[in-house]
Amino acid sequence: MIEERFDAIVVGAGMAGNAAALTMAKRGMKVLQLERGEYPGSKNVQGAILYADMMEKLIPEFREEAPLERHLVEQRFWIMDDRSHVGMHYRSDDFNEERPNRYTIIRAQFDKWFSSKVREAGATVLCETTVTELARDDRERVVGVRTDRRDGEIHADVVVLAEGVNGLLGTRAGLRARPTPDNVALAVKEMHFLPRETIEARFNLKGDEGVVIEAAGTISRGMTGMGFIYANKECISLGIGCLVADFQRTGQTPYGMLDHFKQHPSVAPLIAGSEVKEYSAHLIPEGGYKAIPQLHGDGWVVVGDAAQLNNAIHREGSNLAMTSGRIAAEAIVQVKSRREPMTATNLSLYKKMLDDSFVIKDLKKYKDLPTLMHTHSQNFFLTYPQLISKAMQNFVRVDGTPKAEKEKATLKSFVRARSWTGLFGDACRFARAWR
Ligand SMILES: Cc1cc2nc3c(=O)[nH]c(=O)nc-3n(C[C@H](O)[C@H](O)[C@H](O)COP(=O)(O)OP(=O)(O)OC[C@H]3O[C@@H](n4cnc5c(N)ncnc54)[C@H](O)[C@@H]3O)c2cc1C
Repeated sequence: MIEERFDAIVVGAGMAGNAAALTMAKRGMKVLQLERGEYPGSKNVQGAILYADMMEKLIPEFREEAPLERHLVEQRFWIMDDRSHVGMHYRSDDFNEERPNRYTIIRAQFDKWFSSKVREAGATVLCETTVTELARDDRERVVGVRTDRRDGEIHADVVVLAEGVNGLLGTRAGLRARPTPDNVALAVKEMHFLPRETIEARFNLKGDEGVVIEAAGTISRGMTGMGFIYANKECISLGIGCLVADFQRTGQTPYGMLDHFKQHPSVAPLIAGSEVKEYSAHLIPEGGYKAIPQLHGDGWVVVGDAAQLNNAIHREGSNLAMTSGRIAAEAIVQVKSRREPMTATNLSLYKKMLDDSFVIKDLKKYKDLPTLMHTHSQNFFLTYPQLISKAMQNFVRVDGTPKAEKEKATLKSFVRARSWTGLFGDACRFARAWR
């Protein structure tokens, strides 16, 4: 296939792989990037919110060139029971700034564009090429990759594993364990097409303004999971995901949950009359800090979802992927510029730089939340949403009952459902895990 030797091989052309390949190519390194999909983005699924700050660090002029959908001016959080939602909306005209903070995107289009910038920077990008194995020398150091192409062994000083959450290459090579069912969620997503004016009217938007809705509650039927509704220019991305361990335990199906979510009285009017043109499913890393594997070794580093770098609480994944890809690449560039070998010791610079970044600091902050949410999913995703909904109904319904009696009834319903010790315990557990 390719006879020459590269400074670095990047496996995968998602957010992490593109960030790594771009950073190294821009710094004059000889980079080969391999992607199994027909084109970058063809295999990728995301909600999808793009966080501008991280993109800007890679491509400052991206706003003028990239295929962006809507810039976000509003974020809604919904706690749902079967018939209602209790919502918190944050909307600010401040977000109508010249350089908006977040955008919705469509990954198939965005990744293609991102990859064109990687090529422009001088990297060789080969699609429809699956890396099947890591090549090692007699001291077990990674020295390149084998691919599904004929004579497909290629050598490089370092291999960047940016192969996504289900990265079989790294797990088969024994560099990290396969993600366990309680460390990954399975999400399903549909794209609902509607005329632009209809979307703007339904979501109270004008021009390129956008809104996203994050939803949790009885829609996940007591499992650890969330739904999302994101407005694009001419379509709405709508999906829901739950921990794989919970699907295993309950026998629920992702498509069944998605149907249920779409029929919810708060959701159905938003997508009424739409045409569904795309259905996709994908895993999401959810294990947080405690699930992060070994990040580097002799001749290799792992970045993005493959390294479980996803902040499930804030729904941030692509920015952690881009940031880890960029940081890994900067560490590699530094090692190379010192003319030192890509040993585990030298590549530990990547881990050190990542530890100093928001990526690890954020994941560390929430290190106990994934376990808490999973072990108490019935309470957090079923009981409390139902109680909150009833409490709100009680608060807003005017029926001649004195307010003091209403408050007493609400308090009683919480104590009946969880007991005083249960309520106190949940509050303490949540506060401890959040801090
Ligand atoms: C439903 C859903 C909604 C999400 N919403 C958001 C959101 O709104 N905002 C956000 O920031 N994040 C979101 N995420 C998370 C985000 O999508 C990921 O964190 C991000 O895509 C990770 O980037 P990555 O480059 O690590 O992996 P990926 O984007 O998955 O890229 C991995 C690439 O490697 C390729 N590959 C794999 N194995 C091989 C191989 N052996 N050889 C060659 N190529 C290979 C794949 O084809 C793929 O292109 C969402 C995820 C899902 C599933």
